[in-house]
Amino acid sequence: MEKDIFCKINDGEMSSNIIYEDDKLKVIMDKFPVSPGHMLIIPKCHITDALDMDDETFARLNGIIKKMIKKCYEVLKADGVEVVQNNGICQEIKHYHVHIIPKYKEKNNLTNEEIYVKLTNNEE
Ligand SMILES: [Zn+2]
Repeated sequence: MEKDIFCKINDGEMSSNIIYEDDKLKVIMDKFPVSPGHMLIIPKCHITDALDMDDETFARLNGIIKKMIKKCYEVLKADGVEVVQNNGICQEIKHYHVHIIPKYKEKNNLTNEEIYVKLTNNEE
């Protein structure tokens, strides 16, 4: 079976801009952001559906979602944040992932690179 893009990223076969990482989960910049600062949270081991994730990792994931929403407001000055996670036939890439999409009242013209620098310079 052909490896999906997130497994390739996790195995170091494809590059990514990493915002956060622990032993189970990783937050990366989406290469094709729908809005500046679009991030993805992915598990390091391959699972597809939310129901395949163990409860402990799921709880940790929720904490990370909250942290990233905070970053969107405080670092990127977003006016709102959309969180999307698809399962089953709704999924385009069959590797579990959560979209964190900051939204702005006024157009934000920051590039991916500028946003990456901002997000990684503000580590607590
Ligand atoms: Zn995978």
